[in-house]
Amino acid sequence: MSSVQIQCIRCKTMFRDRAGRLQDGYSRQCPCCEVVLFFAEDSQHPFIKRAMRSARQVRKELREAEAVRRAAPQEPRMAPRSRSSTGRARVQERSE
Ligand SMILES: [Zn+2]
Repeated sequence: MSSVQIQCIRCKTMFRDRAGRLQDGYSRQCPCCEVVLFFAEDSQHPFIKRAMRSARQVRKELREAEAVRRAAPQEPRMAPRSRSSTGRARVQERSE
């Protein structure tokens, strides 16, 4: 779910890696041809750019989902009608 698809720049194999790891400066080996892929924000390679972009997108979605979860934990229901008990005189017991 939180992984992105990466395509090897050499053998074109598609594989997946965690979006959280796929950041600027990250590198990993292709599971197929073992070439080392370097992930940099300023990479000119379209496969790398695409992987970086989708990783950023996934991380953004995760952050937003997390923010939504945190913003609405279990808010106490706001009752719009605040019914103040109309002066119902309490029966006072007089002790004589
Ligand atoms: Zn490869």
